[in-house]
This record gives sequence, structure tokens and C-alpha cells, in this order.
Amino acid sequence: MPYIPTAPDIKTKVADTIRARRKKASDLNAYIRFGTDRDEAGRYTTVGGALVTVEARVHSSEHRSWAGNVPNGYEQRVEISAVAKCHGNGCPSPDFMKEHSGYWPLDDDADKAADAIVPLVQQAREWAQKHAEKCRAQAYDGR
Ligand SMILES: [Zn+2]
Repeated sequence: MPYIPTAPDIKTKVADTIRARRKKASDLNAYIRFGTDRDEAGRYTTVGGALVTVEARVHSSEHRSWAGNVPNGYEQRVEISAVAKCHGNGCPSPDFMKEHSGYWPLDDDADKAADAIVPLVQQAREWAQKHAEKCRAQAYDGR
């Protein structure tokens, strides 16, 4: 039987992504403290033959804080969202996004934010699946 790769569990993947960002941010490099990490969470083919992709996104940023427990007065935060995008050429409604309204400190347990992203990714996957069943925009072939 041929080897069939299986996509990693999105919760595990996102938790790893947050831990990697935390590790990089600990050296206080400003370019590392800000940014968006993207983990692929799904790929669908539309009836028109185009691709719909789903991504789990982790946004890292830094905010001034006057809370006493925040070292050097800046709190590093993690915000999460899930995005689906249809890449069909001329697709009339190619974008779907679901954002979580809250945030987590970067130093927090990475599993909490990773847990919270699962239902967002699920909604993006459902949108992608439904969109793929009816979208007839073809993939852009460069001509
Ligand atoms: Zn489409």
C-alpha cells in the first residue's frame, strides 16, 4: 500500500507555531515580536477546478501595559483567526474570515489559543467545502 501523508491536527500545529514564536520572541527582536504565522488547515478543489485554501492565522503583537506583572511595560499578545480563500479567476465572493475577539498573552499556555482556533477553522472549512461545491470560476492560468 502506498504511503499516504495525513495532515497534522490543526490544534497541535497551531500550538507548536505559538511556542516557536514565543521562543523566537524571547530574544526581544522587534521583528520577531510582530507578525502573522499561517498554518495550512485545508485545501479544496472547486467544481470549476480552482483551489480553495484554509489557513489558521496567529497574529503576534506588542502593546503598552500598565499592569504591574508585565515586564518592561509591554505585553506580547497572540490573536487568532481562520481564513478561507477561493483562488478562482473572477470568483465573485472569494474571501471568508472568522476572527476571535479576544487575545492571549504570548507567555500563556499555547494550548488555550490553539483550542480556541479549532471552531474558527471548522467554520472556514465548512465555508470552503460549500463554496467549492458551487463555484465555477476557473483557476487563473496566466493567459
Ligand atoms: Zn470561488
